[in-house]
Amino acid sequence: MNHLPIFMDIKGRPVLVVGGGERAARKVEIVHRAGSRILVVAEDLCPALEDLAGRGEIEHQARAFDAADLDRRVLVFVANDDGDLARRISKLAQDASIPVNVVDRLDLCTFIMPAIIDRSPMLVAVSSGGAAPILSRVLKARLETSIPAGLGRLADFASACRDKVKAAIPEGRLRLRFWEHFIHGPIAEYVLAGQKEDAGNLLDEILEKAKPDHGSGVSGEVYLVGSGPGDPDLLTFRALRLMQQADVVLHDRLVTDDILELVRRDAERVFVGKRPGDHVMRQEEISQLMIRLAKEGKRVLRLKSGDPFVFGRGGEEIDDLSSEGIPFQVVPGVTAAQGCASYAGIPLTHRDHAQSCIFVTGHAKDDTLDMDWEKLIQPSQTLVVYMGLDSLPMLTEKLIGHGADPKTPAAIVDNGTRANQQVVTAPLDAIADAAAKANLPGPAIIIVGSVVTLRERLSWFKSAGV
Ligand code: SAH
Repeated sequence: MNHLPIFMDIKGRPVLVVGGGERAARKVEIVHRAGSRILVVAEDLCPALEDLAGRGEIEHQARAFDAADLDRRVLVFVANDDGDLARRISKLAQDASIPVNVVDRLDLCTFIMPAIIDRSPMLVAVSSGGAAPILSRVLKARLETSIPAGLGRLADFASACRDKVKAAIPEGRLRLRFWEHFIHGPIAEYVLAGQKEDAGNLLDEILEKAKPDHGSGVSGEVYLVGSGPGDPDLLTFRALRLMQQADVVLHDRLVTDDILELVRRDAERVFVGKRPGDHVMRQEEISQLMIRLAKEGKRVLRLKSGDPFVFGRGGEEIDDLSSEGIPFQVVPGVTAAQGCASYAGIPLTHRDHAQSCIFVTGHAKDDTLDMDWEKLIQPSQTLVVYMGLDSLPMLTEKLIGHGADPKTPAAIVDNGTRANQQVVTAPLDAIADAAAKANLPGPAIIIVGSVVTLRERLSWFKSAGV
């Protein structure tokens, strides 16, 4: 190792920063977070430092560095363009055994600052020892995305209940098992989702039930997760994390293989969607299945396409969970309208075209479409129709029949955000024919409104072809 990674307590201790520019400000910001008393010696301050000094968070002396400034400092930072001065301060600091960091001058540093992922009290520090800062940055970015934002809360929560757990489960090995369940189970999920009270109640319940064989006290839970319209890059961090810790996944037809690939390898997969002609698992059956699996102690992932609460029946599926007392959480996803609009270069609202946007389902019941047509054909409004490909001829006929301009621009985005995305555009009175000619496989959404014309200039996504 070129450097020793240590975490230093500098709360209330004096730190010297020589230099008042942006680079100094970046150091000050971090050192300030660790609670030290900071003196900045610099003729001028950048606005960020000026602000801190103005609020009394740091002390500023507008003058040149003096050797006496080093007295009793626990750390020294130099962020100054004067190379001779930097060398001199570095030498003085080293003679006085004060750790010194000179920005961008590895040769003058006795310590370096890592890239940090701050989930206080949890901290991850990453360093390449100055060899390849870009690698540290890439690794930091990766870690940022895989470490939940609420991890600090989790550490605080665990710390606060440590004594209680110890009293309830005196035996060390069982207690370790408890903590493993804690990290991977519903209590931690509650804490990460900011529901501390629920976490506390569940903890009490579990500790109450704690028997010599502790595992039996731990219940399962359900994650209702939106997986977006198809491009795996559009998953949320939380969705990905829950996908990687689930024991069983219930998915349907619209969730693509690319996304299922990201579910934990050894999770059991249950297909609950409908294929044309096949038996359809009804909503209640899906609910009952989730309840049964959760009661067996499993972490159940109910993976939906798009957003679970947008034409996803997510609300119905989890309705019974709360009455059964099964912990659950809902993770939003990018809904098809948003994903398709972005990837087709069609803004859903635009100051010159549409001030509102309405999402409707075009799913026909008994071969009829029962809708408030006038409401759909408002000026300056974009209309997005889900599940409307089959009923498209009827849909366009009704819209025009109720007064829509037959030449209103319309688009169909088929398999939006995916490698095989296709976009068909035509005026409203010709879109059904154009769709039939293109023989689109679906799923597809229909976008109607003058925003569709913007696609000519804003289209950016190149699909791999069909
Ligand atoms: N909950 C989902 C919608 C499910 S309803 C969401 O928020 O997106 C199913 C309908 O969504 C399909 O009939 C189609 O209209 C639309 N859809 C889903 N994925 C799509 C995609 N990748 N491209 C185009 N339309 C899509």
